[in-house]
Amino acid sequence: MTDIAQTPSGNPTSIDGAALPNREHSRTGLSAEALRRAVADHLLYSIGRPQSVLQPEHYYRALALAVRDRMQQRWMATTQDWLDLSNKVTCYLSAEFLMGPQLGNNLLNLQIEDAARQALAELGQDLDEIIACEEEPGLGNGGLGRLAACYLDSMATLQRPSIGYGIRYEFGIFDQEIKDGWQVEKTDNWLVHGNPWEIDKPDASYLVCWGGHTEQYKDVAGKLRVRWIPRRVLKGISYDTPVQGYGVNTCNTLTLWSARSVQSFALDAFNTGDFYKAVEDEVLSEKVSKVLYPNDEPEAGKRLRLQQQYFFVSCSLQDILRIHQERVGQPLHTLPQKWAIQLNDTHPSIAVAELMRLLLDEHHMDWDEAWRITVATFGYTNHTLLPEALETWPLALFGQALPRHLELIYEINERFLDEVRAKFPDDDDRVRRMSLIGEEGGKSVRMAHLATVGSHAVNGVAALHSELLKDSVLKDFYEMWPERFGNVTNGVTPRRFLALSNPGLRELLDETIGDGWLTDLQQLRGLEAHVDDPAFRQRWREVKRANKSRLAEYVHSVTGIELDPSWMFDVQVKRIHEYKRQHLNALHIVTMYRRIKANPGLSISPRAFIFGGKAAPGYFMAKRIIKMITAIGATVNNDPEVNRFMRVVFLPNFNVKNAHLVYPAANLSEQISTAGKEASGTGNMKFMINGALTIGTLDGANVEIREEAGPENFFLFGLTEDEVEDVKAQGYRPANYIEHDPELAAVLELLAGGRFTHGDTEVLRPVVDSLIHHDPFLALADYRSYVDCQDIVGAAWQNGEEWTRKSILNSARSGKFSSDRAIAEYCDDIWDVGPMSVRL
Ligand SMILES: *Cc1c(COP(=O)(O)O)cnc(C)c1O
Repeated sequence: MTDIAQTPSGNPTSIDGAALPNREHSRTGLSAEALRRAVADHLLYSIGRPQSVLQPEHYYRALALAVRDRMQQRWMATTQDWLDLSNKVTCYLSAEFLMGPQLGNNLLNLQIEDAARQALAELGQDLDEIIACEEEPGLGNGGLGRLAACYLDSMATLQRPSIGYGIRYEFGIFDQEIKDGWQVEKTDNWLVHGNPWEIDKPDASYLVCWGGHTEQYKDVAGKLRVRWIPRRVLKGISYDTPVQGYGVNTCNTLTLWSARSVQSFALDAFNTGDFYKAVEDEVLSEKVSKVLYPNDEPEAGKRLRLQQQYFFVSCSLQDILRIHQERVGQPLHTLPQKWAIQLNDTHPSIAVAELMRLLLDEHHMDWDEAWRITVATFGYTNHTLLPEALETWPLALFGQALPRHLELIYEINERFLDEVRAKFPDDDDRVRRMSLIGEEGGKSVRMAHLATVGSHAVNGVAALHSELLKDSVLKDFYEMWPERFGNVTNGVTPRRFLALSNPGLRELLDETIGDGWLTDLQQLRGLEAHVDDPAFRQRWREVKRANKSRLAEYVHSVTGIELDPSWMFDVQVKRIHEYKRQHLNALHIVTMYRRIKANPGLSISPRAFIFGGKAAPGYFMAKRIIKMITAIGATVNNDPEVNRFMRVVFLPNFNVKNAHLVYPAANLSEQISTAGKEASGTGNMKFMINGALTIGTLDGANVEIREEAGPENFFLFGLTEDEVEDVKAQGYRPANYIEHDPELAAVLELLAGGRFTHGDTEVLRPVVDSLIHHDPFLALADYRSYVDCQDIVGAAWQNGEEWTRKSILNSARSGKFSSDRAIAEYCDDIWDVGPMSVRL
């Protein structure tokens, strides 16, 4: 502890490692000794607080800075190498990156966890406590943003040069509190304590225009050109975060753009005495990167959201073109040989029009060449079949905001529809359906169509989803260009979601099959050889049990509810949405409650039902579903007749940080969306890797999970996608199911009658009424099948040895769901990006 005061490396003999030949440099050394010196240095020089007032948060920041230093060389070398070698680079454009806490992950990927633990111990600190100080950047809503983060991890680990481009939201996804059983939203002020991982590059900035009009002019060669006279201009400045690959030198970049006012504009106003106008302008500009929009809310009229999308896309494309041209001798026509740009859903799809604008208006390229380059460069990943989630912009709003882009979209559309007419003569209906401009309910710009027309590759995110895409929302496009369509099933990173979050299992795996699984998850197959070994099964159970104790402790600390780690942990964590059917899960819980009340002598497998997830603040029904779960929980948990067999927990503020505790502790993974609605799911994969068994429908990646695990190791229930369509086509009447199922009728009666709400019959009425009268996601149609399947799950739990076998086999067969596999497929099939090893 005396080190800080007495031996900072400000000591002249140690500024330069050469003076002390056996000492590593305190900026780069990976030993515990070098790390200890580095932390001590940062405490003194970067944190700047006297030792007597140092708190764990200060040690966190100092260690984070020391770790960032250790990535710096690798980071610069990676960038320099792809500049020099002209290796092709992937740019992953995503409005969301749900990165999660960085410190633990960076220590893992640099393989210096033990050194850091020792270094901190010598400074009197506990590494786990220090790691727990980190607040995560909540720059995403859920699955889509987390996928982007997993993909960055895999691209770095597979040594593929890449840049993630997104928005540095000042306020990320809200923090969720539960008050009186209701969700309460609190602003997420993640930047108040600073962010030690990012480096701002105020010199790397770009201007982004907005509004105004266009005009034609003749260039020096007498050619007719267009220029955009914007109403406003703002500036994007970049904040770069290193993305370290596991066990390799590759360290890629996440670039997030932050909006600023353009200085000179403000200055003008200031000089003319209008100081407040200048300030106002600044406030307006900075609004653009202020807050992340929660999804699942109507898009209509959200001008600011369009501005956010255009803002980050324009900055990113300008950055790419600048780097490309600054590479020695790279003319613009080689863009597709040097860059693959992936659009993560339609949020960045304005990129198609923006690249055309840059090539035509700024770089004076011809239309045909610009279009060839655009299509060859972009790929588009679709993430949803829900029609309400397919982005469209009202034409008037779009034209006011981006007048030049609207002109370009008209021109793209005209040429595209000519192609359609040539391929499908006399099919006006098809032309109308495929147009980039929608006519129904007022004219609109269809962003999914723009993305599809402007990309050489279009993919869905699970086998079923990609098939349904070709059969529904993008059917006409598939018939036009079948060769563009493919599938890349999602994956998750085994570094964060196994090694980092399940250290007990990591140790057991390393001992049993070695540590190759960290970069080759298929090696988990090696576990199958041990599945019949009782000693191994015993250790497997002990690991799971310890993870459950860890979660139970956390649950107790945040909710006051006590859970018994010997019970089955039945978990559903994900955004709250009707299509994900948390209410179906709730119906099962009420069913069990009722059975116990009716027959107190009943012997059932005891279960903890654990929920977590945020509801979009404007999504009325989702918020009622949270209230329904907490109300059922309050009744169940306080009834001594019932709480001997079941407890219900709603874990507040589900995020990546507490996800680390949740997935490894689950016995049963609830993946119960209406078939055809969940594009893939990735939570389902995190559970499987960590040895949970799945109860699920044939939806999204569940289909492939069941295929890999074997049908005997998966609890299947519910209608298939085809059957869902049939039921709907025949005119779905939820009342039919109630009339034919007295247990279902009684369960709904309990909910409607106020049993869980102190006699109040209004609170849960909207949920119950919606189920009885509309039930858009067929929860009642699947109720009987689900409850019967849950009975089978309960019975299976009784046989502990058999359950453990199935648990091991699920894990052993989860290799396909590594994001490394997914990224390898993107690289081979869509991006044509090869590995590049980085030398230091
Ligand atoms: C994985 C993950 C999700 C996605 O879960 P699904 O079950 O696939 O919807 C959402 N939020 C967080 C924090 C996650 O880690």
